[in-house]
Order: sequence, then structure tokens, then C-alpha cells
Amino acid sequence: MSAPFYPRPRKALGQHFLTDPRILGRIADALSAAPGDTVVEIGPGRGALTDILLARTLRVVAIEVDRDLAPMLVERHAGNPALTVIAQDVLEVNLAEAAGVAPFLVVGNVPYNITTPILFHALQRPRAARAVYLVQKEVAERVVAKAGDESYGALTANVQVVAKAEMLFTVPAGAFIPPPKVESAVLRLTPLEQPLIAADEEAPYRLMVQGAFGMRRKQMLRVVRELWSLDPLAAGALLETAGITPTDRPEVLSPDDFARLLRARLQASRLTSA
Ligand code: SAM
Repeated sequence: MSAPFYPRPRKALGQHFLTDPRILGRIADALSAAPGDTVVEIGPGRGALTDILLARTLRVVAIEVDRDLAPMLVERHAGNPALTVIAQDVLEVNLAEAAGVAPFLVVGNVPYNITTPILFHALQRPRAARAVYLVQKEVAERVVAKAGDESYGALTANVQVVAKAEMLFTVPAGAFIPPPKVESAVLRLTPLEQPLIAADEEAPYRLMVQGAFGMRRKQMLRVVRELWSLDPLAAGALLETAGITPTDRPEVLSPDDFARLLRARLQASRLTSA
């Protein structure tokens, strides 16, 4: 079969194609998938990873927004019932519905300009049993950081409150065509069996964490006062209930600390409105 003629990589779609079969194999390994498992692949591009997943007899649902590459992938695997291609923006696709089965897995060498929205999108319930992403190394470091680390922030606290995050290995820029400006890393997210917050706490948790890290240089007493328009007494009481030191700054609070703070706040507002 002659090699297909691919259109020039589109910068606006973050297209950097991975060609190294060894790295592609390691990404597929990180999924720990069993034959017949369903994998939602985000941004298959020219299909290098898709080919490997299909060769491992996985069922692949590939979501690709590029109007040229999506039909090329369909054509290349015509007649293979294990592949479904959805030619759409992944942020507009419900991943669990696209998978059509539970459990399902997620994998993707994702476009770097929308990595964070994709991570959040894929963390919506019902979640994949495992998700493996190739992302900018700096983003992977932020996701796996510990409270107090330099790269710890809202992204970390939002991910780790519902999932275990692991940075598995780094990938040099030279492994891609065209090479990106930065180093990349493979990140694996596995939902916690017991998330630190309940489903209905996720939206207020995210708001609280975003708000707190918007004031990362302030102490928690001030942060809590500003977040919820509280007087010093009420703010101090909330922090005490949550077991948080009022002079701490948001960057040293673990996801569990934030979860306790939210619970204290929800409890207090329920008491006030009762
Ligand atoms: N997986 C391929 C590889 O490893 O060679 C391509 C990776 S490339 C970094 C990112 C891919 O995501 C591109 O194919 C791009 O067209 C696609 N993409 C960009 N934005 C997207 C979106 N919003 N929804 C779905 N796919 C998108």
C-alpha cells in the first residue's frame, strides 16, 4: 500500500505527530488494556497510535476534529468494525456516550493549547477507568505536584481530588513531526475509588479552588473571608472546623484540606439557611 499524502500539519490544531513506535507502544502499555476493551482516543491525527491500539485488538472510538485527517483514518481502516471515527471537537463529545460501554479507557496525544480543558472534560462523570495522556511536561508536573511544590496549583487540586495522577515517562521533542518547542510527558489518571468529594460537591469545589489560587499569596483567613464574604469570626470558625491553620496560604493546602474546607462551608451555610 502506498503511503497516503497527508496535508501539512495544522499549527492551530496543535498537530505534532508522534512517529516513534517504541514510545507509541509504551503509551499503549500504560493503558493496561485487555483485548476487546474500549478506548476513546482523543486526536488520533494520522493514526499512528490508533494502529497500535487496533493491532492489540482493542475497540477504538477516535475523536478527531481535523476535517481532512478524520476521513483518511476511516478510509485506511475501512471494513474494520473495531474502529469508529467521530469527526468532531472532543470538547463537544460526551466521552462515556461515545464509548457506549462501561468501563472504558481514554488515551490521547492531546493538542497542547487545550490540554487543561480536555483533562477537565474527561474527568466528568461517568469517568474512564484509566486515562493516559501525552502532554507538555510542565503540565504533567503541575498535575502530579504535591501541596507546597512550586508547580502545585488549582489544576493539581482539582485533578487529585478525584483521581490518582502519575507522570510515567518523558518524551523528547525530537520524537514528533514537527517537533514542539517543549518536552512532553506521559500522564496517567486513575479515578479514586473513593473520591475526596461527592458528585454534587465537584462544581463548588472547583469554584473554591480557582478562587483560592487566584489569591495564592494571601493567608487562608483572608482567602475564606473574600471567597464567601465572611467576617473574621465566621471565617476563623470555618477554618477551625476544617482543621486549617488561618495563616497558611492556599499553595500548602492538600486536596483533602480543600475538601474539608468545602464541607465545613456547605455545612455552615445549610445551618444558616435552616
Ligand atoms: N495522536 C496523533 C499522534 O500522536 O501522532 C496526533 C497528536 S496531535 C498532538 C493532536 C491531534 O488532536 C491532532 O490530530 C489534532 O487535529 C487533534 N485535535 C486538535 N484539537 C482537537 C479537538 N478540539 N478535538 C479533537 N481533536 C483535536
